[in-house]
Amino acid sequence: MTQVTVITGASSGIGAATARLLGAQGHRLVLVARRQVELDAVAAESGAEAVAVIADVTRRDDVRRVVQTALERFGHIDVWVNNVGRGITRLPSQLTDDDIDQMIQVNVKSALYGMQEVLPHFLARGRGQVINVSSMLGRIPHNPLRSAYSGAKHFLNALTDNFRREVQPAHPGIQFTTVTPGLVYTEFGSSTLHPGPDSRTFPGGQSPEDVAAVIATAIATRLPHYYTRPESRQAVLDSHAGEP
Ligand code: NDP
Repeated sequence: MTQVTVITGASSGIGAATARLLGAQGHRLVLVARRQVELDAVAAESGAEAVAVIADVTRRDDVRRVVQTALERFGHIDVWVNNVGRGITRLPSQLTDDDIDQMIQVNVKSALYGMQEVLPHFLARGRGQVINVSSMLGRIPHNPLRSAYSGAKHFLNALTDNFRREVQPAHPGIQFTTVTPGLVYTEFGSSTLHPGPDSRTFPGGQSPEDVAAVIATAIATRLPHYYTRPESRQAVLDSHAGEP
């Protein structure tokens, strides 16, 4: 049966590249973001059946509406990709309460709502997969301008691993997967909370298409963790071995 996949943050970057790739592979897609024109354009390139849903995933009611729309349109959901995220450009000594709240809202609660709202459907079917797009900064917290984002992605990783520990003993057909990119050439750097440099000018990044290919592999092979670069796992191990 053709897979039904929901992708949040599909109007640009990694989410848009993932939509195009999965659409070409035959997934029936529900694509989510706030910008209508951009999202419609991606949907038009992501398979004949792709549906664009305008929603703000920092609102639980919006996320619930996405679940309902997907079920009304396709009858079931196989994969839910929590890809929405936003960075920050501010040193730890300058962080405000609002900075922390916004980082948690967009990077943690958005995915928490997705996991909680789709879970009853997955439990009823006895299967399903959540894929949470994290970051190397969720593994190695060594970037002062991004500390609040880095902390939020660590929080997201903890939630993902512990959802799996909660659900899988009784429901082994349900998987919670973390995908961990490093630098990726998208709008991410230029759309951080507080202005920062466009990270597309930095050397050594990956294309969003490279990350999309790893997400497609994660759907096909359903393991708990994927890095988008082969050297990343060792970099994480090294960083823990040599704490500053
Ligand atoms: P982009 O800024 O290109 O994409 C972010 C997407 O999220 C857009 O489609 C945006 O669309 C959507 N979005 C943002 N806020 C909301 C919201 N409240 N509700 C619904 N949609 C929202 O960045 P990337 O593609 O790079 O980011 C994707 C993921 O990859 C993020 O989780 C990011 O943290 C992670 N990542 C990125 C890295 C990089 O270097 N680029 C490195 C490591 C991880 P719209 O504005 O239309 O709502």
